[in-house]
Amino acid sequence: MLRSCFNRYLTAMFCCVTLFGASASQAEQIVVYSARIEQLIKPMFDAFTKDTGITVKFVTDKEGPLLARLKAEGKNTPADMLITSDAGNLWEAAREGLLRPVESKTLEANIPSYLRDPQNRWFGLSVRARPIVYNIEKVKPSDLSTYEALAEPEWRGRLCLRTSKKVYNQSLIAMMIAEHGEARTEQIVKGWVANLATDPLSDDTKAMEFVAAGQCDVTLVNSYYFGRLMEKNPSLPLAIFWPNQGSSGVHVNISGAGVTRHARNAGAAVKLLEFLSSEKAQNLFADVNMEYPANPGIKSSPVVAAWGTFKQNPINVTTAGELQTEAVKLMDRAGWR
Ligand code: FE
Repeated sequence: MLRSCFNRYLTAMFCCVTLFGASASQAEQIVVYSARIEQLIKPMFDAFTKDTGITVKFVTDKEGPLLARLKAEGKNTPADMLITSDAGNLWEAAREGLLRPVESKTLEANIPSYLRDPQNRWFGLSVRARPIVYNIEKVKPSDLSTYEALAEPEWRGRLCLRTSKKVYNQSLIAMMIAEHGEARTEQIVKGWVANLATDPLSDDTKAMEFVAAGQCDVTLVNSYYFGRLMEKNPSLPLAIFWPNQGSSGVHVNISGAGVTRHARNAGAAVKLLEFLSSEKAQNLFADVNMEYPANPGIKSSPVVAAWGTFKQNPINVTTAGELQTEAVKLMDRAGWR
């Protein structure tokens, strides 16, 4: 244990946590690697510990470093569970053999099949929707219809987009490839690029700030960023439009989790996964970041519910991983920087 603590992949913080955990008590404990930040996971872990007596130690970092670490640690990993905020990353972890299949009637009942791995190596725990946000002083909802229609010439010089480097846009395009094929999707993306009012922006919030300032009229963002921005500045002239309601539905992604292949305490990790899919945790898990519960039996928070109900695209989110490489190449060909 001591030796492994000097392993260069382990941070000083984690070393202390592990030593403490080993010497503290016989209480059951699991270790989670999480790409969701502490404030978005700790309330659920605390509730789980209260219910079960199982303590949860966690390490937070970006997805890339967490996956690299899991891979490098191999059999010696202390991690029992991986949490990420995009299906593409969970798909990648599963493809690398870092996660194990979990057979659980509870998870199958709580999480719809399109929000989990067909081989049950990971499960969506909250839904993140990527709708259109528009300037209410310049656009009427009746002007809007679909993602695809934003490629039409009437939107010339009126669209803002976040950079194509962000996995959220890569996932969106991967899903569009699954729906339309590469040729049609490339045509649509080229139309978007032709309609850009400005170079692609670094993040969703900046894109909405450009829309609010009148530098463009519409953009595509994850709805929780809209929620955060409007909470800070309720007078901004922005609103959400739910596109594709007469066709494929709104593009959704997930944050979710899987049990690691080399988990030392897989049983307790499955318990945590089941707990996170339950009514008690689903409210918390989605609400802390203004996301949507993955469990369709659970209502959204009042703030989120006020944005309206919408049909989700029911295509399996695993597509975001499977077609990610194609999506990145396509966006590059279409000139989306
Ligand atoms: Fe985000």
